[in-house]
Amino acid sequence: MSDVRIDDLPVRDELRGKSPYGAPQLDVPVRLNTNENPYPLPEPLVERIAERVREAARNLNRYPDRDAVELRTQLAKYLTDTSGHEVGMANVWAANGSNEVIQQLLQTFGGPGRTAIGFEPSYSMHGLISRGTGTGWISGPRNDDFTIDVTAAGKAIAEHRPDVVFITTPNNPTGNAVPRETVLALYEAAQAAKPSMVVVDEAYVEFSHGDSLLPLLEGRPNLVVSRTMSKAFGAAGLRLGYLAAHPAVVDAVQLVRLPYHLSAVTQATALAALEHTDVLLKYVEQLKTERDRLVSELGAAGYEVVESDANFVQFGRFEDSHTAWQKILDRGVLVRDNGIPGWLRVSAGTPEENDAFLDAVRDLQRFVG
Ligand code: PMP
Repeated sequence: MSDVRIDDLPVRDELRGKSPYGAPQLDVPVRLNTNENPYPLPEPLVERIAERVREAARNLNRYPDRDAVELRTQLAKYLTDTSGHEVGMANVWAANGSNEVIQQLLQTFGGPGRTAIGFEPSYSMHGLISRGTGTGWISGPRNDDFTIDVTAAGKAIAEHRPDVVFITTPNNPTGNAVPRETVLALYEAAQAAKPSMVVVDEAYVEFSHGDSLLPLLEGRPNLVVSRTMSKAFGAAGLRLGYLAAHPAVVDAVQLVRLPYHLSAVTQATALAALEHTDVLLKYVEQLKTERDRLVSELGAAGYEVVESDANFVQFGRFEDSHTAWQKILDRGVLVRDNGIPGWLRVSAGTPEENDAFLDAVRDLQRFVG
């Protein structure tokens, strides 16, 4: 039995020899590798979740609200309140993490015979979910300093005429935000080429120095902004992602979503968290301060650092980033090796966790160049 491997099974050709997403989940004292929020949910919110879930439990014999109307209404309110751009329930759709949002978008607008493009290095799941949905993946260009060159990116869009364009801002793993003008130019390029859907992945936008691109939705029905409660809301374990777009986009994803995909427990928990938005956003402010401290202290220690608008920092350069990763791990601190030669990524933790990380990297032998 045990000698049967994946490739002995009749798996789809495009999955053969591939690896699944797999950030290590190691039991070490300081885990700064998956851009989680280090602060546990505050106790009054935990109590409120318990209350809401208890209520939901009384109806678990029934399927949940398939359209998640109350939750989408509250998410729309959160987006409106924080961006100043009016977002309504009909503009919002939610799923189990923004990964599922992205999957539903690719099932709807990508698929066999279609392609998607992203500007790499960027969030690796855009490519992996493309592959999983039978969508061809195109790796678009990015400059050496991790900014997007509008001309080069526009040329790639014109040449490949993708059906879906991903723009991650702030970008993961590099942390830098994409200027509004770049997003606008790429949207225009994508419409001229096909037209295609442009997905702006704003998973980290609450940590940004700048504003959300939600106002760009006005008059652009092929634009989608995706968001998550995994980072700013400190609720990665909840699995709640959402999008804002023209109501027609929300209608379109209904064609592929599984019925009752968002459990009553998930909806109840997310609603409780949204009641505590103000407190949770205070943690975001603390994390932004810590993120800025990481940038300046890494710089002071002689590292190259990418300016960050997210809750993590990309730093280098190492001759051998994997060895550096291991040495930091030997000090009890888990950071992320994204396979970008010369660079590692660290998520902003609590002040104590960041101190442990900074101590570890200050001691590390450095190779610049
Ligand atoms: N987009 C980006 C850019 C991310 O970095 C992540 C998580 N690492 C996600 C989406 C997915 O987040 P989730 O599924 O937890 O909402």
